[in-house]
Amino acid sequence: MGTSGPTRGPGKTAAKSKNLSPAQGAQQAEQRVGKPCYHVGQKVPGIFACVACQFRINNRGVLPSCPDCGEIIWAYMGDGPRPIPEGETAAPQAAEAPAGPAVEDNVSLEPTTQEPVKVEEGVKLEP
Ligand SMILES: [Zn+2]
Repeated sequence: MGTSGPTRGPGKTAAKSKNLSPAQGAQQAEQRVGKPCYHVGQKVPGIFACVACQFRINNRGVLPSCPDCGEIIWAYMGDGPRPIPEGETAAPQAAEAPAGPAVEDNVSLEPTTQEPVKVEEGVKLEP
């Protein structure tokens, strides 16, 4: 009988600063090195350097973990725009704008047949 006192406190301690997801790790590494960073498992081709030991790979498929030190974050060493991993969508792309105004030939400008104004019968406008 009787409920026991509250012995269970909030068991979670927010001490997970080092426990980042690969995506978060890549994000942080990107800020650190100033280059687009990717993590193991992303399919993105190009020259990548391990952010930990600078081991370089010429990646063609899915990013591995660093064969030298086991790091899972890679910095993209190529030039040009940030490559987009296969199967992912980057920033929302604007829909392709048409190249200039469309000019249509042979457009017949038939007058639209106007329907005669219908007069409803039986409508009394008298008060
Ligand atoms: Zn490495």
